[in-house]
Amino acid sequence: MTAFLHIDMDAFFAAVEELDHPEWRGKPIIVGADPRGGQGRGVVSTASYAARAFGVRSAMPIRQAWQRCPGGIYVRPRMARYTAVSEKVMDIFRSFTPRIQPISLDEAFLDVTGSMRLFGDPVAMARRIKDRIQSDTGLTASVGVSAVKSVAKIASDLEKPDGLTVVPEGGEKAFLAPLEVRRLWGVGPKACAVLERLGIRRVGDLQERSKGELVRIFGRAAGEHYLNMANAVDPREVHDDEEARSISHETTFLADVQDPEVIARTLLWLADKVASRMRKQGVRGHVVTLKYRTEDFRTITRRATLKQPLEHTNDLFETAKRLWKRFEGMGGKVRLLGIGVSRLESGGANQMTLFDRENRNREGAAEKAVDRVRARFGNRALFRGSLLDERT
Ligand SMILES: [Mg+2]
Repeated sequence: MTAFLHIDMDAFFAAVEELDHPEWRGKPIIVGADPRGGQGRGVVSTASYAARAFGVRSAMPIRQAWQRCPGGIYVRPRMARYTAVSEKVMDIFRSFTPRIQPISLDEAFLDVTGSMRLFGDPVAMARRIKDRIQSDTGLTASVGVSAVKSVAKIASDLEKPDGLTVVPEGGEKAFLAPLEVRRLWGVGPKACAVLERLGIRRVGDLQERSKGELVRIFGRAAGEHYLNMANAVDPREVHDDEEARSISHETTFLADVQDPEVIARTLLWLADKVASRMRKQGVRGHVVTLKYRTEDFRTITRRATLKQPLEHTNDLFETAKRLWKRFEGMGGKVRLLGIGVSRLESGGANQMTLFDRENRNREGAAEKAVDRVRARFGNRALFRGSLLDERT
């Protein structure tokens, strides 16, 4: 028997703010971009449950949030604090199983199949983990329990906050049948609209359709995927912690940007942020992703896989610039830029020439010094030469 838990912290960023500011308890808290009196750009990261009662949702433009809830408490994200709490939570998970796959700061899959002898059945384990989170951090999480990974994820969302939803093995299809198709993994608003036109609103409606029909409409990959998800067929395993991890940083511009100078400076700033976090964690990575959002809200990513892992600001900056070149021809303005590094490995000697290594060691030492200064005096104290003016 296989058992997966999907654990998701409840309104995580907002819950941490509420924890740190007891006077805000029960009030509508909106973590995200600066609303600037309804003129702000960027989006809501997380809304507390009290804010959700006003119709505020994560990923909603911050202006719209302001319209719906002008009396809310608007706070900028404090990522360092959330990361610290996240590490505590992930440590709790790791004390129950080494097979964990973090999906984001506040969400992870746990394969607990091998831990039952030690900790009891998956439901007992889910209760213990929830209790530990509550006592160690003061926060609540919702858990889904299932033999099928994708079903565990859907389950964790059903009884939020502080939920525990158990899907018995063999009962997955019956569990999914009454749910709306939008709950299925990978079924976005577009697919939902098409499905609705076919008379498919519930997962149960989808379960009754033939593979041939769905493949004809959506193409092979998507058609098969929807049918598999509806029928709780999900062969994916929990990936290893190491593989799944990535380090990334992104920024939304106050006004859409086209100036190559500003873009280059921003890429350098992002590369520096990501590289400094990589150094702090003692890792380097093989895959660099550049994320780009256009003024009309399309999000595009470009990826480079490197033979040699990188760890330094300059290498990351150069790679990001190369990726950027592929966008440049498209014209148009940029709304958001992000850089991510994945396929991380812990630092260790790699296959560099001696010359390379010497050079890099020197650069590495310089960057470590930068990190030390930054740790003492804060981020603004030390910006690279071409970054002197403050970025948003
Ligand atoms: Mg969450």
